[in-house]
Amino acid sequence: MDKEQIEVLGNNHIATSIQTPLRPDAFDTSDNEKIKNIETYFGHIMQELGLDLTDDSLSGTPYRVAKMYVKELFYGLNPANKPKLSTFENKYKYGKMLVEQNITIDSACEHHFLPIVGHAHVAYIPNDRVIGLSKINRLVDYYAHRPQVQERLSLQILKDLQYALKTEDVIVMVVAKHLCVSSRGIKDKNSLTTTVEYGGCFELDQKRQEFLDIVTKISI
Ligand SMILES: [Zn+2]
Repeated sequence: MDKEQIEVLGNNHIATSIQTPLRPDAFDTSDNEKIKNIETYFGHIMQELGLDLTDDSLSGTPYRVAKMYVKELFYGLNPANKPKLSTFENKYKYGKMLVEQNITIDSACEHHFLPIVGHAHVAYIPNDRVIGLSKINRLVDYYAHRPQVQERLSLQILKDLQYALKTEDVIVMVVAKHLCVSSRGIKDKNSLTTTVEYGGCFELDQKRQEFLDIVTKISI
């Protein structure tokens, strides 16, 4: 890809697949090895920028960044960290909509490695299975903590919940601010990006509207 294509792809926030593109050997190295290697590489970046790494304030930065990447910001790349989506029998036969809203999104754009911050609103209509509420938050958190594209993030959450709950009746809405749009490029400080992905009964306008009425009107 030439430099112009690289810019075009980044500015249009285009993703190439629903799966995060990972190398087959992505987790052959341990977290500690990754931190050690990234520390070296990030030190090179700082050095190339002209920073003096012998300065007390800067000397620990390569390690801090490396640890933050592996253990915090991008912990969701490693499938070993994926929350187990245990479900339970729907004993009380709850059959209407369950909405989990205002789930914090702390992610990063895969084109610029700048923050994506916002909220996810997720709903499903139980069939035979129900899921612990915090599991939905944990799943959102897991997929958010990898370099992302907002459309893919929404789809990854949707597909996993549909699979775990054995129903297509799931909807995922993400509303987020992209710092790569507000701090660079067009530098639009106020714009937000909304993605809505759904299946099953949420294909019906009325069901979708019921969900939107809840998430747009209720705030605590
Ligand atoms: Zn970006």
